[in-house]
Amino acid sequence: MSSIFTKIIAGEIPCYKVAEDDNFFAFLDINPNAKGHTLVVPKKEVNKLFDLEEDTYNGLMHFARRVAIALEKAVPCKRVGVSVVGLEVPHVHVHLIPLNSMNDIDFKHKVSLKPTEFEEIATAISSYLN
Ligand code: 5GP
Repeated sequence: MSSIFTKIIAGEIPCYKVAEDDNFFAFLDINPNAKGHTLVVPKKEVNKLFDLEEDTYNGLMHFARRVAIALEKAVPCKRVGVSVVGLEVPHVHVHLIPLNSMNDIDFKHKVSLKPTEFEEIATAISSYLN
């Protein structure tokens, strides 16, 4: 069975897309810890980060770095935090989270955003990608 992220990548489930290339995809987390919380995933469905082939792992980190640099320009914050958990969705994903305090990296700390805010953030991050 396909993961929910595979369905998002395929366009079967909607998302606020931030970036995409042949192998990787970035979109906003639907239940964000902080405004701008972004998920970066390999299109190939693999459960655990360190089970990725080395080329895919390196490519994912390279792609996540590009997104994080754009994210920090789009969403004012002290820095972008990185976390890999995967206890909810068994499809590798890197959490990129704009941090202003330790609360923002706490997955019990959530913020509520309107659809228009999600759209604006995704568009802003995309505009800073290079
Ligand atoms: P983890 O697997 O790292 O524990 O957490 C999975 C993350 O995916 C959570 O932060 C959750 O909010 C996010 N998530 C789960 N389902 C969806 C979805 O359908 N769309 C989006 N955009 N994010 C999701």
